[in-house]
Amino acid sequence: MKPFAYLRAASVAEAVRESAARPGARFLGGGTNLVDLMKLGVESPGLLIDVSRLPLDRVTDTADGGLRIGATVRNSDLAAHPAVRTRYPALSQALLAGASGQLRNTATTGGNLLQRTRCPYFQDTSKPCNKREPGSGCPAREGAHRDLAVIGHSTECVATHPSDMAVALAALDAVVLLYGPDGERTVAVTEFHRLPGDDPSADTVIRPDEMITEVVLPPLPEGTVSLYRKARDRASFAFALASVAAVLRVREGRIEHAALAFGGLAHRPWRARTAEEALRGAPAGDAVYLSAVDAELAAARPLRDNAFKVTLARHLAVDALAALTTRA
Ligand SMILES: Cc1cc2nc3c(=O)[nH]c(=O)nc-3n(C[C@H](O)[C@H](O)[C@H](O)COP(=O)(O)OP(=O)(O)OC[C@H]3O[C@@H](n4cnc5c(N)ncnc54)[C@H](O)[C@@H]3O)c2cc1C
Ligand code: SF4
Repeated sequence: MKPFAYLRAASVAEAVRESAARPGARFLGGGTNLVDLMKLGVESPGLLIDVSRLPLDRVTDTADGGLRIGATVRNSDLAAHPAVRTRYPALSQALLAGASGQLRNTATTGGNLLQRTRCPYFQDTSKPCNKREPGSGCPAREGAHRDLAVIGHSTECVATHPSDMAVALAALDAVVLLYGPDGERTVAVTEFHRLPGDDPSADTVIRPDEMITEVVLPPLPEGTVSLYRKARDRASFAFALASVAAVLRVREGRIEHAALAFGGLAHRPWRARTAEEALRGAPAGDAVYLSAVDAELAAARPLRDNAFKVTLARHLAVDALAALTTRA
């Protein structure tokens, strides 16, 4: 085991200052991903800066009727929060579809957004991997890629982002608040995770020594309904083969607002802008849903063994929209 130092940060400013002073330091949330990666030798930080006890563990209303979620709010607490369950059910359902009860009790909002891919080659330091070691190659493209990307991938990397929560946040137009050496900034969740392109080493646009402090959900207009659906190999404790977060508002049979995001398909939550464009203003109904979702998934480029994910995603999305229509 490689020795590392541990510091429990007393404030966000201290956490960021210490991180900037110690190259190779890592923030520690619940540790459910980072510590696993340390045991596998994928991560070897010289310093762990524990941010999990910072007073960022609250969910509060914003003045405009949205919700402000602290970075250290545990996944279980967020899923169970009455405001989340009633106003943003897709988020509660996405959280409950992830991991296990024990993991959700420990995992934090910030750590969940920044969890790394479950690509088996990334986690195996005896194998090449462009994400772990830029320029070393991507054995997944020709190797075991059943669970990996079907859309938005590159010759350099075909990994998927594993978070369920991030998919719901993307469909709900959430914003990430960051604090770093240059001060505060905000990034939309849809812009936070990257596509791999020719540099898959970076999963997100977070800058060195920047910390996630909060996630903000905008208010949803009256009559908006949402849900999250996930297909996986086992009923629990399994990552998404495909998932969808859907947000819908229908009035007098016409779609006033539709937001769709897919999980398990790409290097980031895949916001389905083409489908949304086709849905907006159209009459609510299965034929419209099918053609909108097909228009989106026409961009999919499945690999040898994962074309089934496109079919799964198609059915999940159409079913989700149909289920929401009956509630809208
Ligand atoms: C067996 C198993 C099954 C799982 N199944 C699922 C699943 O089905 N769906 C799903 O979505 N997830 C699943 N997970 C993943 C789990 O949700 C993540 O491990 C967890 O959300 C990570 O949160 P954490 O607080 O423990 O992060 P940590 O492990 O503490 O940190 C993860 C990363 O985030 C960084 N970080 C943490 N907090 C901050 C912050 N505030 N600012 C900046 N950087 C920060 C760390 O430096 C690290 O790089 C599973 C995990 C396991 C072990
Ligand atoms: S898909 Fe990405 S993470 Fe997996 S081996 Fe290829 S480069 Fe590495």
